[in-house]
Amino acid sequence: MTANAPAFPTDLPTFVRRSTAEWQAADASHFLHPFTDHRALAAKGVRVITRGDGVYVWDTDGRRIFDAMAGLWCVNVGYGQEALVQAATHQMRTLPYYNAFFQTTTPPATALAERLAALAPAPFRHVFFSCSGSEANDTVVRLVRRYWDLLGQPDRKVIISRRNAYHGSTMAAASLGGMAAMHAQGGLPIPDIVHIDQPHFWAHRDGAAKGLSRDEFGLVAARWLEDKIAEIGPGRIAAFIGEPVQGAGGVVVPPPTYWPEIQRICDRHGILLVSDEVVCGFGRTGRWWGCETFGTRPDLMTFAKGVTSGYVPLGGVMVAERVANALIERGGEFEHGYTYSGHPVACAVALANLDLIEQQDLIRRVREDTGPYVAEQLAKLADHPMVAEVQSCGLMAAIQLCRDASRKAIAPGIALGMACRKHCFENGLVMRAVGDRMIVAPPLILTREQVDEMVGLIQQALDLTEAEAFPE
Ligand code: PMP
Repeated sequence: MTANAPAFPTDLPTFVRRSTAEWQAADASHFLHPFTDHRALAAKGVRVITRGDGVYVWDTDGRRIFDAMAGLWCVNVGYGQEALVQAATHQMRTLPYYNAFFQTTTPPATALAERLAALAPAPFRHVFFSCSGSEANDTVVRLVRRYWDLLGQPDRKVIISRRNAYHGSTMAAASLGGMAAMHAQGGLPIPDIVHIDQPHFWAHRDGAAKGLSRDEFGLVAARWLEDKIAEIGPGRIAAFIGEPVQGAGGVVVPPPTYWPEIQRICDRHGILLVSDEVVCGFGRTGRWWGCETFGTRPDLMTFAKGVTSGYVPLGGVMVAERVANALIERGGEFEHGYTYSGHPVACAVALANLDLIEQQDLIRRVREDTGPYVAEQLAKLADHPMVAEVQSCGLMAAIQLCRDASRKAIAPGIALGMACRKHCFENGLVMRAVGDRMIVAPPLILTREQVDEMVGLIQQALDLTEAEAFPE
């Protein structure tokens, strides 16, 4: 042993037991968390999650927490699925990595491409793999512009997206996204990405939606796309991108008239339709793909999260024939790819995950059982004085908190969403706040009993929020 060799035996696990306070100190010293006010977090101390099982996770203090966000909309099959562990272990032993660049593949990558093509609607027969949703959406920007170049229409560069959309955090994906706070940092969006408003009935209740039914508003909101196309010129538009249900923007379930009208407008102008299925894909809305729930026929679909249930990172773009044929037949080399495109361990885990979704009949359960049951149970909260509206689609739901529901003065300095989120955590529930809109997207394996437990915890959090925000 040399003088500067590590002072601990190498057979010790690298994961060392420490108290919550010790983890918090180490974390504050070294870990810059995503989407975090670092100074505020350091002052408060990070929450340390150590294990998970089913729909629950546990923290370093041994507290059990109901994870109604499935991690970050991704742990669709729940925690502790041994089949996924086995798939990863087996693939790591056999071949932990090989690339897909130099006219090479690995069995899991090609098998997953074949499997995804079989699961996707008919025109999709090809997939381009990435490691995340952001990279998938970056790929879309490259791909749609390449497509129009190949078709001899290089002026078609502009991609239209929506305000408050979330498509990821890389430069291109954050540009596609419509989050003002993200655009304000780093000079975004990049050129030729523009935004229209979102089909958010409640947010537009005093404006564009005033006096309209949901269906009427859906048509109005879709026609914002037509207005934007007219403003820019149809010959300059490459694609429109949208999440079937906007997730991080607040689980905004569009009126039923919205997507068919968007489809009509895209068809009319020959514009590519991109469905961001990163949240909605793999059963979240009760179908394999969110576009199937809303009846659109996209040309590209991006995915990540649920494809592996978050056990390992993987993403990609499903490419329909129209685009794939241009790429393959007219293409030459597409100058784009990632070291981990088609990572064999991630693809092996994805295959095991898809098996599990099928074996447990999760998608039908969401569509016919747990999804409708969540809607029914959450509807009971609509009478709560803190609630302005409840919306859900499959296993994603939003509860819009109301500022004046209790008709009392709100306590000074209270942000309703943040207050509610705090009460959730304190009572063992993870629910996310988007402004004053509380959102849930639990693992797809949850049972009816667990729906009852989740709704009970939400009710408790609403009561506590009301007591704090509207004291007597
Ligand atoms: N698209 C959507 C709809 C998302 O919700 C997200 C992440 N929440 C992304 C893309 C980005 O995915 P990732 O964080 O894996 O890059």
